[in-house]
Amino acid sequence: MRYNFTPEQIADPQMGPAAQAVRSCVHCGFCTATCPTYVELGDERDSPRGRIILMKDMLEKGGAPTPEQVYHIDRCLSCLNCKTACPSSVNYQRLVDHARAHIQDHYQRPLFERALRWTIAKVMTRPALVRVGLLMARLGAPVARLLPGRLGAMAKMGLIARPSGPEPTHFPKPVLGPATVIQRIAIMPGCVQGALAPQIDSAVGRVLARRGIELVALEGSGCCGALPHHMGREDDSRAWAKKAITAYEAGTYDGVLITATGCSAQLKDIAQQFAGDPVWEPRAKAFAAASRDFLDLCTPMAAAPPRAFRVAYHPACSLQNSLKLNGLSEKLLEAAGFMIVPFLESHLCCGSAGTYSILQPELSGRLRRRKLGNILASNPDVLASGNIGCLQHLAAGEGDLPPILHIAELLDWAEGGPVPPALAASNLNL
Ligand code: SF4
Ligand code: SF4
Repeated sequence: MRYNFTPEQIADPQMGPAAQAVRSCVHCGFCTATCPTYVELGDERDSPRGRIILMKDMLEKGGAPTPEQVYHIDRCLSCLNCKTACPSSVNYQRLVDHARAHIQDHYQRPLFERALRWTIAKVMTRPALVRVGLLMARLGAPVARLLPGRLGAMAKMGLIARPSGPEPTHFPKPVLGPATVIQRIAIMPGCVQGALAPQIDSAVGRVLARRGIELVALEGSGCCGALPHHMGREDDSRAWAKKAITAYEAGTYDGVLITATGCSAQLKDIAQQFAGDPVWEPRAKAFAAASRDFLDLCTPMAAAPPRAFRVAYHPACSLQNSLKLNGLSEKLLEAAGFMIVPFLESHLCCGSAGTYSILQPELSGRLRRRKLGNILASNPDVLASGNIGCLQHLAAGEGDLPPILHIAELLDWAEGGPVPPALAASNLNL
């Protein structure tokens, strides 16, 4: 695609890759059929190709974007399905990340929207504050249930959460066997998961201990920075990244883990936030190289679950399009004695997409209905995923839903661990 970026813009470490992405696009449109928002809305401006033109015009010109540009770029999920379908290897991620940062720096959003985004960036990244929010949502449940739009989406997240106990700070020692290779992995607490579903990290600790891996809580770290990054708040995101890198460098570990695929994808891509920074870029690169996803560490293990459930596994976009760990979850679940049931359009985003389910509740809800319709048609006993955002978003759907839980909870139960809260609360015969 022809462009008019200046030599200074092309030389900029952040703008340069975005300009390169624009130049690589040959406008073929192969990506449109894979884009959830285009599939749902049928509007070229809500397709990857249409958004690339909007972002090109916005970034070339510089300064304040138009409301139309912001509207359609905001409606992008950053699911990166388009990236996997593109024959020209357009790095859409670099372009949309830079476009979101540009909007954050140059566009004055309405007051309510600014307050909401600030709240997400400052409150949802801190588990202690999320817990206060959960309590408030529960105390005010009759009112919270009636809240419309974005506030309703936030309140619902609190109302459906079933946290079981406090966030774990200690994890089991590895189970030693003759062929056991012990690894010591630092685990980051993350943000909302610690408050909404602390049982996930506990289950991960037990599952990995059976495989010779010891988890150690990474003191001094917190959120991975993905939540502010999704909103273009790069300063906030970089601050979280620096905390995590500094905390990791202070110890000696065989890697660093965070147990949501969306956060893993953020950690593996963390160096791009420091492109051109002589101090932090090399440190971020070393940290990214040490980052692990649960699926990088977990190996198949034969087990005999109390019930051999039919499992629908929802692969998060971060798992499919960023981490590229497709198919591993299904192998783990089958080895543990479960039956995987396939469903249509498993490649399409469920509408969770980081902060998207709160900021774009209408379109996010449409994508969830589409996803759940396809999943329920396969008649599963349970629905599993590896990303807290997807789990919470899907569990907030309408209708009679199966228990929805993290893959580690299911594996742990099959291998002799406790009954996961979502199963205990279900009417399934265990
Ligand atoms: S598939 Fe790639 S090259 Fe073709 S329009 Fe989409 S982004 Fe551009
Ligand atoms: S990232 Fe996802 S929603 Fe955004 S343009 Fe690409 S496919 Fe569409």
